[in-house]
Amino acid sequence: MSEHLRPAEKKITESDEFIAHALEGASIPTLMMSLVHITGDTSVLRGPIRPKVVMLGGVQGALSEEEQASVRRMALEALKAYRDRGCTLPLQPSPELVQEMMNFMVGERVGDEYVPMMLEELALDGNDSRAPRWSRAVPAAEREKFHVLIIGGGMSGLLQALRLKEAGIPFTLVEKNNSVGGTWYENRYPGCRVDIANHFYSYSFEPYAWSEYFSQRDELLAYFRNFAHRHGLEEHIRFNTEVTAARYDEAGAVWEVELKSAEGTRSMRANAIVSAVGQLNRARIPEIAGREEFQGVQVHSAEWDPTLELKGKRVAVLGSGASAFQLVPEVAKIAAKLYVFQRSAPWMLPNPLYHEAVSPQFRWLVQHVPYYGRWFRFLIFYPGSDGILPALRIDKDWPHPERAVNALNDHFRTQLIEYLKSQVNGNLALLEKVTPKFPFMGKRMLQDNGSWLRALQQPNVELIDEGVSRIDASGIVASSGHYEVDVIIYATGFHATRFLWPMSVIGRAGKRLSEVWGDEPRAYLGITVPDFPNLFCLYGPATNLAHAGSIIFHSECQVRYATACIQALLENGAKAMECRREVYEDYAQRLIAELETLVWSHPACDSWYRNRAGRVVTTSPWRLADYWKWTRAPDLKDYTLTS
Ligand SMILES: Cc1cc2nc3c(=O)[nH]c(=O)nc-3n(C[C@H](O)[C@H](O)[C@H](O)COP(=O)(O)OP(=O)(O)OC[C@H]3O[C@@H](n4cnc5c(N)ncnc54)[C@H](O)[C@@H]3O)c2cc1C
Repeated sequence: MSEHLRPAEKKITESDEFIAHALEGASIPTLMMSLVHITGDTSVLRGPIRPKVVMLGGVQGALSEEEQASVRRMALEALKAYRDRGCTLPLQPSPELVQEMMNFMVGERVGDEYVPMMLEELALDGNDSRAPRWSRAVPAAEREKFHVLIIGGGMSGLLQALRLKEAGIPFTLVEKNNSVGGTWYENRYPGCRVDIANHFYSYSFEPYAWSEYFSQRDELLAYFRNFAHRHGLEEHIRFNTEVTAARYDEAGAVWEVELKSAEGTRSMRANAIVSAVGQLNRARIPEIAGREEFQGVQVHSAEWDPTLELKGKRVAVLGSGASAFQLVPEVAKIAAKLYVFQRSAPWMLPNPLYHEAVSPQFRWLVQHVPYYGRWFRFLIFYPGSDGILPALRIDKDWPHPERAVNALNDHFRTQLIEYLKSQVNGNLALLEKVTPKFPFMGKRMLQDNGSWLRALQQPNVELIDEGVSRIDASGIVASSGHYEVDVIIYATGFHATRFLWPMSVIGRAGKRLSEVWGDEPRAYLGITVPDFPNLFCLYGPATNLAHAGSIIFHSECQVRYATACIQALLENGAKAMECRREVYEDYAQRLIAELETLVWSHPACDSWYRNRAGRVVTTSPWRLADYWKWTRAPDLKDYTLTS
């Protein structure tokens, strides 16, 4: 049998004792996958030790201590032999074997359609198969006549920049901040961290040995900054520059763009625009009467002032969504008094790893054991994404729509209420306040390790289960009374439904994007819109993921698609491509119909996913497997190409 060395992982040179110690920190189902790679022996997949169905957040497959110890012993022998033979591996497993491994790892049959997608995600052959490929050679002189403008240097814009660079297509990235990183640059409130596990919330082709399972803002920002630096993207970026307007010149098939910076307003021309402005980038403060009267400090969570002193202060946090959930436990530690104003209690999933550091042993395994990090990614990816969709589907015949959308959804609800009960120390009034009044998964699920309810039960913290009526000079007025505070923190989210706002984008025939979209922004695959040729949106309408997926997965799909569209223009000698109206309309209708079958459209789920009319516009209803398939390559029949 021929052998190969996997270059991405470090060679093992450590002693038997060291390896045995490292294995103490292992996720056993993950280790079992590595065992197959290391030994080439598949008998472990057919033996008596089998992970049970894996729930989100579970990394041990409900295996007993004894079973775990037995796998560690096998792994120790295998790793010793692997080290002693110079860290070579047997042949790559076949796709059929990979599918068997997936089924085994998650304790259920993983559909056939996931195999190619997961093979790509796992990159078992070490190839970045989402990198751009040309179907026909386009001379450099042709490519150099074409220039792409990327708006935004967050996770999506940086990825787009890399792909254009790899394809040899000239581009400029314009970023309004003085740094890359987007979300992870701007959000610096205490406690800010990712709530999708990091071994999944990272580019598929740039694995990283994270120091926490859910890393904090600084480490995330460093990851994206390093990415930009390592790939030489900075030289293409204009920082501190905001795109304020873009107008399509049909005769020249070019976008005329207006840029604003401290030096004033300038213009530039681009053959194509990729918008990577994010969905959660424009902070929203609700219109509450009397805000201007308040004499203390007011701050939005996404516009945090690091010099803000909260020690000994009376503080109000408005909101109980994802940012408040992270911020409140931190503020509770230092504020003299903290009032949390909640309009709607969130659902949260117990996850003991939420604030946990990754042990040195686990990091060593990620860096040294073949495919360990890759399979750990799968373990946290699969159960929380498409696997959860059946619990979200509205069953019209279900007899208790007031509390759940179907029997499985109700089952989760019951379990999670038990989890809440276990944390309120018999305080039934608190339990009533923290029990969500909408079905499970109706809004973004929060990861919880008990810190939220512990904070709410501190003597200096009060949960006020009602909206704010008004603000006055000294604090907040609600129907339950007046609350004097020194600081008001708005954890009130973003203008998420106002896509590409506040830019003025004018397409063919003077069509204004904000008017075309109105309150109901839609785009084909969330990416393209008729009358707006050569405009591609990343993280655009209906591409947010609420069934626990990582937005990075979606951005990788969109960037691949947008890059392939731009390549197709060049390959076909075309100047412009525009989504055909019937394709767009058909997609929009299917999308609306699908969204209406899912929990986010339940009348009790009032969230940032919905527009003023109550329709879901930010979030995707699709299975990741389907979206991945549809965005693998553009079907040029969906577009009108102009030469
Ligand atoms: C607090 C918080 C926590 C989150 N946690 C998670 C999570 O756990 N998992 C997850 O999957 N997602 C999470 N998200 C969603 C997150 O936004 C995405 O994961 C991801 O960071 C989006 O990247 P992006 O590049 O598309 O957008 P962004 O990161 O928002 O970047 C957009 C960039 O565009 C720039 N920009 C905007 N308009 C202009 C303009 N007109 N001109 C020039 N530049 C412009 C902005 O300055 C910004 O740098 C979270 C969001 C927030 C706010």
